[in-house]
Amino acid sequence: MKIAIASGKGGTGKTTFALALFLANSDRSVFLDCDVEEPNAHLFLKGIEKQKDVVQLLIPKVNADLCNQCGLCVKSCQFNALAMAGKAGVLVFNELCHSCGACTLICPTGAIQDVETPVGEISIYDLKGGAEFLSGRLKVGHSAAPAVIQAVKKHPSTTPYTHHIIDSPPGTSCSFVTSVSGADFVILVTEPTPFGLHDLKLAVEGVENLKLPYAVVVNRVREKDHLIKKYCAEKNIKILLELEEDRRVAEMYSKGGTLLEVLPDLKEKLNLLLSDLEDQVGANP
Ligand code: SF4
Ligand code: SF4
Repeated sequence: MKIAIASGKGGTGKTTFALALFLANSDRSVFLDCDVEEPNAHLFLKGIEKQKDVVQLLIPKVNADLCNQCGLCVKSCQFNALAMAGKAGVLVFNELCHSCGACTLICPTGAIQDVETPVGEISIYDLKGGAEFLSGRLKVGHSAAPAVIQAVKKHPSTTPYTHHIIDSPPGTSCSFVTSVSGADFVILVTEPTPFGLHDLKLAVEGVENLKLPYAVVVNRVREKDHLIKKYCAEKNIKILLELEEDRRVAEMYSKGGTLLEVLPDLKEKLNLLLSDLEDQVGANP
């Protein structure tokens, strides 16, 4: 079962919740840090890195001897990764290339060759008790976050655990879509503020377009009735859990601690939550 934890915006406590869900179920889950532009799960899980793999993409390289400077490749690139620079010929901006292959296909002289180029890496960590987590990291300056996310999601785990807890990047861009796609269930973490509601609506639109089952976790709740509760009631969206605002959580987080260290009783609830999702996903394959 693949559970993606996502949020329409950063700072909602998405990773805090994802880590707690994983730690409460680490005897049956693998944690995937897919927030590849700023992965930080390793700061909290404190595992031992046992392997590092490079993520590569095919990036075009132009052979100036074969190039007739027709400019077709530049016109074909939807990502502005190619430019014609007068006598210097075609310039390739590796960081902008999405490895779509269009320029190579269109080149009439065979001047373009695709070359494996590193765009990121995946670290695999061992944790106490036999659990494992994988963390993707995009190379600085590159725009190929979806490729690194896909590589993390496809990377084989060395544990027999079949549940994947996927910590998705914040927002609702291509990276969000790549990380939640194929999930059996998406948990959207939000907070009861106007910004939280605005971005939750975007995330809801995203998962509904992808036709993925989802529910909401509300973090930093101060009052019994709040705007997220009203919105979810109107839209008939299930709220799985509400976590009250607690200064101790922020303090613990700033020291590299986790939610369960402050709220140990939450472990049982998160254990049951995963079991309920198992039943639900099993009932709706
Ligand atoms: S492979 Fe695609 S994205 Fe990359 S330079 Fe060629 S056309 Fe542009
Ligand atoms: S399409 Fe080929 S020949 Fe034309 S400018 Fe690009 S690399 Fe040169």
